[in-house]
Amino acid sequence: MINLFGLTLEKLEELVVLDNQNKFRAKQLYKWIYEKEVTSFSLMSDISKKYIEVLNEKYCLDKLEIASKQVSKDGTIKVLARLKDGSTVETVLMRYNYGLAACISSQVGCNMSCAFCASGLLKKKRNLETCEMVGQVLLLNDLLKDEGKRVTHVVVMGTGEPFDNFDNVVDFIKIINSQYGLAIGARHITVSTCGIVPKIREYGKLNLQVNLAISLHASNDELRNKLMPINKAYPLHKLIEAIKDYNVASSRRVTFEYILLKDVNDRKEDAIALAKLIKPVFAYVNLIPYNEVDENGFHRSKRAKEFMDQLMKLGVNATIRKEFGSDIDAACGQLRAKSEKVL
Ligand code: SAH
Repeated sequence: MINLFGLTLEKLEELVVLDNQNKFRAKQLYKWIYEKEVTSFSLMSDISKKYIEVLNEKYCLDKLEIASKQVSKDGTIKVLARLKDGSTVETVLMRYNYGLAACISSQVGCNMSCAFCASGLLKKKRNLETCEMVGQVLLLNDLLKDEGKRVTHVVVMGTGEPFDNFDNVVDFIKIINSQYGLAIGARHITVSTCGIVPKIREYGKLNLQVNLAISLHASNDELRNKLMPINKAYPLHKLIEAIKDYNVASSRRVTFEYILLKDVNDRKEDAIALAKLIKPVFAYVNLIPYNEVDENGFHRSKRAKEFMDQLMKLGVNATIRKEFGSDIDAACGQLRAKSEKVL
């Protein structure tokens, strides 16, 4: 059975044609499942009984189950979603003043082994299928139904490394961005990578017009090797070169994510080194307050404002990330790690 929620419009068009249907049928199906949100093929009144039988045989509209749910005082919703094989992934809904953002996981676990991160405590079990990423958005949309709202922004910043699951993530973007699908604007979608250089280049060439965020966290190789082992494969000079080329290929700027870790990367000289490193690229810096993960030795910096001011003084655009859900298991990967008793 093929889950319809995992198919881009182009792929669905190919499949309906193979079923001897007009290509247009694919758009009709998209409309039913994403706009009218029907949960069964038999409710699709403009599709022949005969083809509905075929659809029932070949395709399904399976969604994700909720394994657990936490709602914060600020309205943030953190869901642990259960997949078909029993694995679980975290999905978070954050309420910004400009819209409702879903933070989507791209893998079950993660192999990138960033020293500060809770997600990597559970190694990668598998890549998420496209329908399982779309399913996370649909699950949040279902939870928002009572409010008459829908997810307006998507960040692929949950558990996993999206560029280690490249093809499925690209299909996911195409589906949620499609005007016949969830119609989430490209500028409202952000993919975050730890810095897999060849994939940054490939992504740039696709010209999706979707935002790209790079997790940087250090401005010299010695520290970045310790914090993010991926740096040993793709050191900073290669990363910066790839981002320069990305700027040109996509005509887009990137966001650098920089977690401020107390006495590790948050001093004045770190801000100066960071400004120097990123000068050649078109980018801005999003400073991230650290969510402490029990006993890994890293602590939240109290110098965020100073660090930001220093960057601005050096001509670098910087913001401090707004925090959500601080009263629930907020650190990345913490909910799942707790449920599997790693934390
Ligand atoms: N693998 C991708 C996306 C997932 S991590 C990446 O590395 O970008 C999403 C962001 O959350 C990254 O910037 C990551 O470094 C950051 N992050 C991980 N653990 C964190 C924590 N405990 N507190 C704050 N940010 C964290």
